[in-house]
Amino acid sequence: MSGKNTTADVPHFSMYIDGEWVDTGASYEIRSSATEELVATVARGDLEHADRAVAAAKAAHEEGTWRRTSPAERSAILQRVTERFAERTEELALLHAQEIGATIRMCEPFHFGASLGHMQYLAELAGRYEFESGGPNLHPVLAAGKTRREPIGVCAAIVPWNIPLVLSVWKVFPALGAGNTVVIKPDEHAPLMLIELAREFEAAGLPPGVFNVITGEGEIVGARLAEHPDVRKIGFTGSTAVGKEIMRAAAGNVKKITLELGGKGPNIVLDDADLETAVDGSLFAFLAHSGQGCESGTRLLLQSAIHDEFVERMVRRIKTLVIGDPLDYDTDLGPVYSEAQRDRILGYVEAGKAEGATLACGGGVPSGPQFEKGWWVEPTVFTDVTNDMRIAREEIFGPVVSVIRFDTVEEAIAIANDSDYGLSAGVWTQDAQLAFDVAEELEAGMVWINDWHIAPPEYPFGGVKQSGLGREGGPRALDEYTEPKFISFDLSGGVDAKPYGLLFSTPPN
Ligand code: NAD
Repeated sequence: MSGKNTTADVPHFSMYIDGEWVDTGASYEIRSSATEELVATVARGDLEHADRAVAAAKAAHEEGTWRRTSPAERSAILQRVTERFAERTEELALLHAQEIGATIRMCEPFHFGASLGHMQYLAELAGRYEFESGGPNLHPVLAAGKTRREPIGVCAAIVPWNIPLVLSVWKVFPALGAGNTVVIKPDEHAPLMLIELAREFEAAGLPPGVFNVITGEGEIVGARLAEHPDVRKIGFTGSTAVGKEIMRAAAGNVKKITLELGGKGPNIVLDDADLETAVDGSLFAFLAHSGQGCESGTRLLLQSAIHDEFVERMVRRIKTLVIGDPLDYDTDLGPVYSEAQRDRILGYVEAGKAEGATLACGGGVPSGPQFEKGWWVEPTVFTDVTNDMRIAREEIFGPVVSVIRFDTVEEAIAIANDSDYGLSAGVWTQDAQLAFDVAEELEAGMVWINDWHIAPPEYPFGGVKQSGLGREGGPRALDEYTEPKFISFDLSGGVDAKPYGLLFSTPPN
């Protein structure tokens, strides 16, 4: 079975468990964020499916075919799947844009295209990763030793709706590349790329049970994976609040965990910055994907001398943006993901106004017939923000930026670091030495100098403080999905050099 049936022009997607396409009779609807039209339906999973998927993954791990497959062969399968995704770019990028409400102009090169780059890198890495390394004789009597990095076992992955493909790739590729088995639970309204990934893994000959995709509510199916005694590792991307629940649940059997959580990126513009670039770059930082990125630059720290001109230029630039049909290549800004998301964002706009911030532009739903359906929020700039306001402390996850004025570089660093989060940060200046000095002081997993949203496959992605635990991607990506085992061996056959004299005072007869 293919796992995809089409009824009344709307495709239906099944779950993939133990090498089989599974339906339940009930389904989720995936609707366009722009038009509310039905895009697809997806099988609705439950606790039973979580348990079945984990049991299948456990059985596949114990049976051992996949973990004993050579790294080169595992890498080849990951590369074959990457090639198939690349061949299907046009079809899949469109489906993905519809699924997550992204503009096609951004989805094709970024959400989809950049994910391909990460897939390719991680697939190759799996083939050249050092699974075994010899070490020095650390003890004078130890004949030899080696470190073997072994798969952990059943790895669960839980991902959100905003950029699900790359977030999944960061977990699935290193996990499979290292020989683990995987159960992934995407957001129930954004699982299509994961189901397509399963289709290509099946075609590439991955043994049954090695990769499983289940859908379902986070509080039920996600929570089950987090506490399941047979899951040994959990890779989670989502909100900090749920990340803390995952940590608590994972304590039950001391699961390994990687957490990629929320952010409130401070974007510092110093008064010597190239203003034209910094204005466009700062818009890119908070508006890309309608601000629905964990690494977005949502606190805009402007030095006093340039503050007024910068805000004025930014508001003028925003007025030139084309807001509308996300599937039109000329559109700059599309909708937000869901009705709930829109209401949440507008709630923060009200909170900002109530706390005394000034609305420099936006703050509502754009007007016009094309905005009567779907979920829209205008690009919104708040000025006169202080760092203690909710709009400066909490993640809004929408096209809203909070502008904070500062006088000195030291003050900017202090404001930037005064946050529970520490995912991303940035500084705009033409003074290279100063830029690196500031970058060193910022408490963040990623710092961009005169840039934003840069996440190449060769570098680690992740945050400090309450933005997460561990890193994804980069050259050490498989470390998070392997357990180092130290093996010492002495093939000399004699007891002369043994340290047993520490215990026995008399030599053996
Ligand atoms: P969310 O935390 O509500 O949900 C994320 C995933 O967790 C979903 O699949 C959901 O079904 C599941 N889930 C929900 N409750 C659960 C529970 N009790 N137990 C187990 N699983 C549960 O997040 P969201 O609203 O879908 O996504 C937005 C959040 O994700 C933002 O906070 C954003 O910053 C964060 N995010 C972080 C990164 C990163 O790399 N740091 C990347 C993208 C998004």
